[in-house]
Amino acid sequence: MAPQQSIAVVNAGSSSIKFSLYDETGHRAAAALKGQVEGLYTGGCRFSAHDAAGNAIGADRLADGANSHAAAMRFIMDFVRDHLGGRDVAAVGHRIVHGGTAFAAPVILDGQILDELRRLIPLAPLHQPHNLAPVETLFEVLPAMPQVGCFDTAFHAGQAPVAQAFALPDEITRLGIRRYGFHGLSYEYVASVLPSLDAGLAEARVIVAHLGNGASLCAIKAGRSVASTMGFTAVDGLPMGTRSGALDPGVLLFLMDELGMGPREIENLIYRRSGLLGVSGMSADMRVLEASADPRARRAIDLFVYRISREIGSLAAALGGLDALVFTAGIGEHSASLRTRVCADAAWLGVTLEPSANRDGTGRISSARSQVSVWVVPTDEELMIARHTTALLATHGTSANLGAGT
Ligand code: ADP
Repeated sequence: MAPQQSIAVVNAGSSSIKFSLYDETGHRAAAALKGQVEGLYTGGCRFSAHDAAGNAIGADRLADGANSHAAAMRFIMDFVRDHLGGRDVAAVGHRIVHGGTAFAAPVILDGQILDELRRLIPLAPLHQPHNLAPVETLFEVLPAMPQVGCFDTAFHAGQAPVAQAFALPDEITRLGIRRYGFHGLSYEYVASVLPSLDAGLAEARVIVAHLGNGASLCAIKAGRSVASTMGFTAVDGLPMGTRSGALDPGVLLFLMDELGMGPREIENLIYRRSGLLGVSGMSADMRVLEASADPRARRAIDLFVYRISREIGSLAAALGGLDALVFTAGIGEHSASLRTRVCADAAWLGVTLEPSANRDGTGRISSARSQVSVWVVPTDEELMIARHTTALLATHGTSANLGAGT
């Protein structure tokens, strides 16, 4: 009997590599295998994995000398090979934050495309190099393995030019200085689920609030991105765990001119020391802030809610009205109190929550009389990547396997 073909999905960040294994249809709700290496480049670099039922099937501490992306990726490959259970890996799908203007859809990666994606590193310096590191390792170790790049920008590529433009001179715009939008794989997954929740949502005007460590909103009309709060980089828009969100550009000039701050110091300030962490002075974790009686924690949550509420108004304007509001990602899926506050602010749009449904936090959480339906939809970026990888593989008739490689 031919072995079961599987798709491996890799989602690499600055300090972690997450991986999962899906059967080739890519449509199963749960991965057969999931795991991650966390704490890269620290002394506490750890590996863990679990099976489809959630049982732990591996946990290990990686040696200090083996805590780079390349070493962690090799560790993961060895682990996966030993736990394939009769499967073959047909391809590996990667989450890649930036596709620039050239990549508006998933693509089979090769050396030339990898070079093009490396040229986008200045547009996403804190994400793109880490996303590409496992691709490079896989090319070295398993050169015949098909690898697919899935881009967080791609879902937004069809936005109208006016939604993508900054009011800058053309010679600057032509350098690629425009709004791209991010979290696209999450939005695409949520958009794919909506029609199964309610057939009317397929054509609806929807705002999806992806509220995790990174946070953004996306306006979706008939399944397509119309506008997003994130722009040129993933620091724009809403305040986040440690990112400032949108700033008056004059603030950056002031920091440079008056405080003598350089680009790396400013980068550190707006990506790592701001947002919920910066305002509260305590934590980037919403659970910690919600549990705290400290007024600084309340101020941080107040600002987060206020900015979300204002941007909901802006995106509703871009949509010409609102039919549905969807919450997803860590905070969106789990914080009933945050949802209560955002929905209270959106009452003017016709939003009315059903408190008990909101406490349960699954499916529809708005009252029957709410003009705008409100939903909680758990996101699944990895499943979206598996689906894209499967589809691309089918159109190219490509296959290979990880088990027999080395
Ligand atoms: P990432 O953007 O890294 O994928 P997640 O989507 O996992 O992040 O979201 C992480 C955020 O979700 C953290 O701020 C965490 O505090 C928050 N979160 C997780 N569970 C809860 C909860 N029960 N209540 C409030 N916030 C939560």
